[in-house]
Amino acid sequence: MSPIRIDVYSVFPEYLEGALSASLLGKARTHGVLDVRIHDPRDWSTDAHRSVDDAPFGGGAGMVMTPEPLFAAVEATEPVRPLFVLSPSGQRFDQALATSLADGPGFSLICGRYEGVDQRVADHLCDGELSIGDYVLAGGEAAALVVVEAVARLVPGVVGNDESPEHESFSGAARLLEEPQYTRPAEFRGWSAPEVLRSGDHARIDRWRRAQALRRTLDRRPDLLSEDALTSEDQDLLDEFPPQ
Ligand code: SAM
Repeated sequence: MSPIRIDVYSVFPEYLEGALSASLLGKARTHGVLDVRIHDPRDWSTDAHRSVDDAPFGGGAGMVMTPEPLFAAVEATEPVRPLFVLSPSGQRFDQALATSLADGPGFSLICGRYEGVDQRVADHLCDGELSIGDYVLAGGEAAALVVVEAVARLVPGVVGNDESPEHESFSGAARLLEEPQYTRPAEFRGWSAPEVLRSGDHARIDRWRRAQALRRTLDRRPDLLSEDALTSEDQDLLDEFPPQ
């Protein structure tokens, strides 16, 4: 199987290189499952100072990343598409998008810095703008790492047990939060792990897990369930396992 390719454009390549060389992602790169290529737009800057930013038209605080080095970098390196520029104004990144990107040949990201990126980059170079949430980071590198890690761990061979990502929060048709998890010891400082998980009755364990996932989602993220009304079986499960 050919590796999933990810091109990332950043004026702080060292920020990305460290994180992308560690742990799961580092191993996946070493084993040829992930082909991550980091490009520094400064390498395509044409002035003596390797500038990549300039003052905003119309005035105002801060600097804006100029289009020339980004266009030149992308045209020279021919990244895999879709190509997104990271921006708080972009489409919200979520598990559904992570899943669809993991099914494709790869994707690419441009990390902004300063006050952001000249809009012509989003409009005429990229396929979309991507946000990781309603807050403002100092730069796109942390956002790029979030996107790369969320997608990469869905690629077969990256997480040890290929099945585990399918049963996690936001995954599958129902998009439920995951149920609470417990491990040894069964008794810790007077708090017991649920008896049902230690019963060996796997049909009951499955029912308990589904009931916990439903209740947690209803309590914490009812928006996730709005399109997916509870079935009568789900209601029965909630009745079988009332809150403790
Ligand atoms: N002036 C911009 C605004 O108000 O929307 C914020 C610019 S931010 C300081 C610099 C860069 O960080 C952005 O160009 C973007 O690449 C990245 N960034 C910041 N917050 C982000 C978020 N929530 N999602 C994705 N990228 C983000």
